[in-house]
Amino acid sequence: MTALENLVKELTSGGVAIIDLTETLREEYPTITLPPEFGQASAFKKDVISQYDDRGPMWFWHNISVSEHTGTHFDAPIHWVSGKDLPNNTVDTIPPADFIAPACVVNCSNEVAEDRDFLLTRDFLINWEETFGKIPRGSWLFMRSDWRKIADPNNYANIQEDGAHHPGPDEECVKWMIEERDVLGFGTECIGTDAGIAMSFDPPLPCHYFMHGAGKYGLQCMTNLDLLPATGSVIVCPPLKIEGGSGSPLRVLALVPKLS
Ligand code: MN
Repeated sequence: MTALENLVKELTSGGVAIIDLTETLREEYPTITLPPEFGQASAFKKDVISQYDDRGPMWFWHNISVSEHTGTHFDAPIHWVSGKDLPNNTVDTIPPADFIAPACVVNCSNEVAEDRDFLLTRDFLINWEETFGKIPRGSWLFMRSDWRKIADPNNYANIQEDGAHHPGPDEECVKWMIEERDVLGFGTECIGTDAGIAMSFDPPLPCHYFMHGAGKYGLQCMTNLDLLPATGSVIVCPPLKIEGGSGSPLRVLALVPKLS
C-alpha cells in the first residue's frame, strides 16, 4: 500500500482523526488593538448579497471583508520589517510544502492559569524535550495555554490599564527555537505570537521580529490545542493566496493518530 492509500485508509477507519484548531470567523470575534496612533485591523464583516429573494431567487451568498490578521490566522515573513526583503515572504509565494508540517505542542496551561504574563523560556523547552524528545527541524512549535478557557471573551487580549497581558516566548527562547531547532514557526491560542508585555521588550515583539526575520511563520488565535498530543500530529494550514499578502485568516487542521 502506498503512503497515501494508507493515509486514506487510516482516515476512513478512524486510525487518524482530524482536529479543527480554528475559531469560527464571526463578526464579534475580537481583533488585535494597537495604540491609537497606528492603523487598526478590521474585524470580520459579512453582508448578504441575496438569500433566495428578489436579489437572487435561487441562491444565498455574502460579501465579506476582514483584515489579513483577524480570527485564526497565518503570519507570513513580510508581515514584519525584519522579513520584508526575504524571498518567498508573502502568502502567495511561500512554498506550499510548508503548509503541511508536524507540530510539537508545549503545554503551558498550568503556568498561564497562574500568570497571564507567563513567558515561555529556552529552559522550559529544554525541560520539555527531556520528556518528549528533541524538537525536530521544520516543526511548528505550538504553545498551549488553554487561553479560550482562561480569557474574558469580552476582553480576549486581556487589555488592562497598563496594556495587554497574555503569554508568549521571551527573546532568548525565540532565538533558540530558530537557531538551535530551526522550527517552521510559532503558534499560539492568544491574539498574537508575542506576549502582551512584549511591546516593551528590546526589540519590541521579538517573536515577530526574529521569527519573520528568519523566514518563519506565525499562527495565532487557534483553539483546541489541548486535544493534540505533545508530538505526532501533522498540521495542515494553507493561508489564502492573497497577492503580496502578509497573512490571512485560514482553517487550521491537525491530523492526529488515534490512540486505541
Ligand atoms: Mn498576525
